[in-house]
Amino acid sequence: MSEQKRRGAALLECCQEIPCNPCATVCKTGAITKASLNARPEFHPDKCVGCKLCVAACPGQAIFLETPDYEPGKWALTFPYEYRPLPEEGQTVTAVDRLGQPVCQAVVAAVEDRPVYNKTVLVTLVFPAEHREQVRFMKRLEQEGR
Ligand code: SF4
Ligand code: SF4
Repeated sequence: MSEQKRRGAALLECCQEIPCNPCATVCKTGAITKASLNARPEFHPDKCVGCKLCVAACPGQAIFLETPDYEPGKWALTFPYEYRPLPEEGQTVTAVDRLGQPVCQAVVAAVEDRPVYNKTVLVTLVFPAEHREQVRFMKRLEQEGR
């Protein structure tokens, strides 16, 4: 597996033409550009190194990091998680779709609270690859009574 594929790449789901550009300014490799402040961001996957800075910086939670084939038959998705308590690595949680509806069980592969992410905690879930188009978040632990 190539280094880029192992680290994954950004997944942009920004559908708004709003004056916003942290994604483009935080990306050091030029993988995200904007033609104007209000334009939707353009993604150049060949330049993405999977650093996740854009995932942490986007105020609209419109960017994810996805890692195809994280394990055989498994997909990984990274997103910002602003709730407490935080999940723990190795914990099994409920993965949900964009509307918060349960999709499948997932395992927490990473919980990253790094200074470079500027107080935004990033959570990575691993789940069956067949759900890659649906999974975008996890059910909050407090909702699960944990
Ligand atoms: S993951 Fe890093 S390199 Fe890739 S688009 Fe986001 S900021 Fe740029
Ligand atoms: S930072 Fe997020 S919301 Fe703002 S333009 Fe970029 S992807 Fe869209």
